[in-house]
Formats: sequence, C-alpha cells, structure tokens
Amino acid sequence: MRWNLHGLPPRFPDVRSSSPAEPAADPDRPCALRGHLPALRAALVQQRRFRREQLAELRARVPADPAQQEVADTLRKGASVALIGIEAALERMDRDRYGDCVTCGTPIPLERLEILPAVAVCMACQRAQDAVS
Ligand SMILES: [Zn+2]
Repeated sequence: MRWNLHGLPPRFPDVRSSSPAEPAADPDRPCALRGHLPALRAALVQQRRFRREQLAELRARVPADPAQQEVADTLRKGASVALIGIEAALERMDRDRYGDCVTCGTPIPLERLEILPAVAVCMACQRAQDAVS
C-alpha cells in the first residue's frame, strides 16, 4: 500500500494583494499547475468553440457597407489570431509543455494562465514583444 495525499485538507494559495510586480517563484507550482490543467483545458476548449462559431458567423454574414466590412474584417483577423493561440496552447498541453514561456522557458505564473489560458509568453517577454510591435 502506497502513501497517497487524499484526505489532506484542501489548501488554497494565499491571495497576495501587495506588490503586483513580484515574480512568482513558487516551489509548489508544478503540482499546483497540474491540478489546474483540467480546468485550463476546459477553458481553452470552450474558447476554441467560441472562436470557431464567431469565425463561422463572420464568414456567413458579409455586410454590404464598406465601413462595416472593415470592422468585420478586423474582428475576423482578431478571432483567427486568438484561435491559433488557443490551438497552440492545447497542443503545448498535449506535449506537456504548457505553462512555460515559449520564448524564454520561464514558468508562467498560474494567475496569468487562469486569466489568459492561451497565453504563450511570460510577462517579461510579453512586454518585450509589445515594445517591438
Ligand atoms: Zn519569457
């Protein structure tokens, strides 16, 4: 009979309200992330469905007004980019690479993943990217 961790009281990470720029170097993180993967995957699958429906709708109904066409075009591009990001995140999950920054390899804080499940880069790389584009 092996030890198992069932029966331990559930513990939730403390919500730290101070110093938002503090790097999250949490030694418990790999376990914490694993526990959250099903929920994150479910969120990604839901987002993928939403984006696919949105794209189908945008393709089905092309507005006659050129100004509205431009808006629809912008929406379509945004939805396509989002869908590609979501699919890439699901693929990283399948390869067990999910949660690590694709640029520098640093673990992305769980709080960031929960807000943006499809995010591929850490805050530092995101800022560097935003500065370039
Ligand atoms: Zn990074």
